[in-house]
Amino acid sequence: MLREKVQKAKRIVIKIGTNSIMNAPTKIDYKKIDRLAYAVSALHQEGKEVAIVTSGAVGLGASTMNLKEYPASIAGQQALASIGQGVLMNLYSKFFSHYNQHVGQVLITRDVISFPESYKNVSVALDTLLSKGVIPIINENDAVSVDELNHNTKFGDNDTLSAIVSEVIDADLLVILSDIEGLYTANPATDKNAELITYVNEVTPEIIEMAGGAGSKFATGGMATKLQAADRMIRRQKAMVIMKSDEPSKLFNLLAGEEIGTLFMKEGIHSDKQYSSIGNRS
Ligand code: GLU
Repeated sequence: MLREKVQKAKRIVIKIGTNSIMNAPTKIDYKKIDRLAYAVSALHQEGKEVAIVTSGAVGLGASTMNLKEYPASIAGQQALASIGQGVLMNLYSKFFSHYNQHVGQVLITRDVISFPESYKNVSVALDTLLSKGVIPIINENDAVSVDELNHNTKFGDNDTLSAIVSEVIDADLLVILSDIEGLYTANPATDKNAELITYVNEVTPEIIEMAGGAGSKFATGGMATKLQAADRMIRRQKAMVIMKSDEPSKLFNLLAGEEIGTLFMKEGIHSDKQYSSIGNRS
């Protein structure tokens, strides 16, 4: 029942992190990209409208320039993003073309969505792509945007972007593909009693604390920004799922209603291993 809304989702945003397309910090993982292209193309073929929000510009820029690590300076990162964004799009175009799926690049900066006229333009552009059966592939325009490249916020900025894109196109569901299964009761890397929470109906301070606190460098890779994205989706009566990116074909299972990852959603009937707004687990 709880997962029915996920099953019925028609318009979906899928957020892909750098780790979902790269292995080591600077090594491209062709297998992962191909599996993603296959899964998303198949979903599209099944009638879902899918938009992708992807990271990887800086990582692929570093890979192209044979760097072992990212430069510290903002300018250095912007230059890498400029190099890597082209590579990123080229990879997506190639792999999606195997499945006869057209894609279109859309680069967004925060100010674009602050102005009603620009917001409308982005919305019309994305709607037009979707209506033509093209998958929009969205990233922040890192080469000119400074907000996102602040070192303290380098994890998860695209989590927020993906929630904003979901708003712009009125998506029913946001799926954040991550390097962990979902939200846990504790850090699974250090606590073997950590349990996956399958359902959250409200992002409370308690839940934020459980995920390591809003400002912490929590080891599960930017859970704080994912929770902020979840909060945005819940407030709009939409759904969000955090799930592991290792096997993109699990998206089929997710959209078949299977209990995968953590579902964030306002309404619904409680199931086991849930976490409610008052913090009761059952
Ligand atoms: N937009 C950045 C990139 O493409 C990543 C930011 C993020 O992962 O949040 O490299």
